[in-house]
Parts: sequence; C-alpha cells; structure tokens
Amino acid sequence: MLQPTPELFAELEEASQKLESADPAEIIRWGAERFGLKLTMGTAFGPEGCVILYLLSQIAPKTPVFNLDTGYQFQETLDVRDRIREKFGIDVELLKPEHTVEQYEQLHGGPLYKTNPTQCCFDRKIKVLQRGAAGKHAWISAIRRDQSPDRAKASIVGWDKKFGLVKINPLANQTKSWVWRMITEHEIPYNVLHDQGYTSIGCWPCTRAVMAGEDERAGRWSGTAKTECGLHTMDDSPNA
Ligand code: SF4
Repeated sequence: MLQPTPELFAELEEASQKLESADPAEIIRWGAERFGLKLTMGTAFGPEGCVILYLLSQIAPKTPVFNLDTGYQFQETLDVRDRIREKFGIDVELLKPEHTVEQYEQLHGGPLYKTNPTQCCFDRKIKVLQRGAAGKHAWISAIRRDQSPDRAKASIVGWDKKFGLVKINPLANQTKSWVWRMITEHEIPYNVLHDQGYTSIGCWPCTRAVMAGEDERAGRWSGTAKTECGLHTMDDSPNA
C-alpha cells in the first residue's frame, strides 16, 4: 500500500497543478509512467469510461481494468465489455460481491435496493472496490467536474482516502460534448441504452431514462435523495 506521506501529497499537488490544462491522454500517460501496473481503472462502461479505455489501449494497454459487477447491471452494459475487448483488446475484469444476487436478497428478506440502497451500494460496490484496490497505488476514474456540484471539486490528481489510493481524473475538465465527439471520431463502442434516453447508467433497478430538460444524472436513484453510489464521495460509512 502506498503511504500517504507529506512528500506524496506535495508530489500529487504539483502534478495536479501541472496537468490542470493537459489533455486526457497526457494525464493518463503521466499516471501510467508514475505507477506502472500499480495503476488500475474502474469502469461502469459509461461513455467517459469507454473513451478512457480507448486512450488506455493506445497508451498503456496492459493497465488492469475492472468493472464492479453488482449482479444488477443491464445486459447492454455487459455487452459493451465484449465490444471493447474485440475492438481494443482490453479485457475488463468483472469484480463480484461476496454474495450472488439470490444469496443477498435471501439474506436481507428481499432486494435491499428498495429499502436501503446505500447499504446495497456499499456491499455491492464500495466493498468490492476496496478488495480490488488491494496492492494497487492509483486508480483512474471517469468523472467530469461539470456532472454535479460534488464532482466540481475533483482535482486532476489527488489522494483518495476512502480507498487509500491516488485518484486520477483525466476527464475532470472535459465536457459531455467532448466525450461524444471522441466516441464518434474514433468509433468507440458505447452502451446502446444511451440511444434510448438513458444518460447515466448504473444498475437496472436504480436507473431510468431521463426526459428532455432533466439533469444528466436525474435517472439515477430517481425519487430518492441519493445521488451517488459512494465511490466518488469522501465518507466511507455505509450510511453516508
Ligand atoms: Fe444496489 Fe442500486 Fe446501488 Fe446497484 S445502484 S448496488 S442495485 S442500490
């Protein structure tokens, strides 16, 4: 495990400032050179993640990449994994929670996403990433600052205390239109549900299509106060 020393923090702050106006490929290259195979990436196969997978295939194709396979993903999402592997040769590992969906629902007397989605995300995403992060020093995320007020504070490079990893956000400064331009220009595979009104896609029980004028993430945990699964927030409590 990388120790969060004052020297490391100073290095990360300096790198973040230097990379603030760098393009995503340059930021990924910095991460790959600095951390080698101790760098990893998590993807839910959103359009941003697919663009990063394309860039990784050009820059550092051996970087280990994983997907948090909650057991509740759309089949269309899992299909993107196959299409990315065929086109770019990147094999995304599926990291699974301790219990299958059937075992989990039996344990809790029904689907927890209906009664306690925060605990469900904690068990089926956060804990799985904590396990997947073991032995790694840094992870790449696909968040953009303009996605939400929480994400607006993301630095290009920083320390993620929740997972004890350096977090690299190569798309922090990019826009949705930049992402889709990349997808079109480079014929990058993407989730076909985006063509059916789904702007942000997570697990099927907690995702709906959005209507014209709605926020990009309005279809996630719709009708509840929850807006994030917890992967990109600082509080590591299951009740956050
Ligand atoms: Fe459970 Fe919904 Fe979170 Fe998926 S998004 S882990 S189904 S609460």
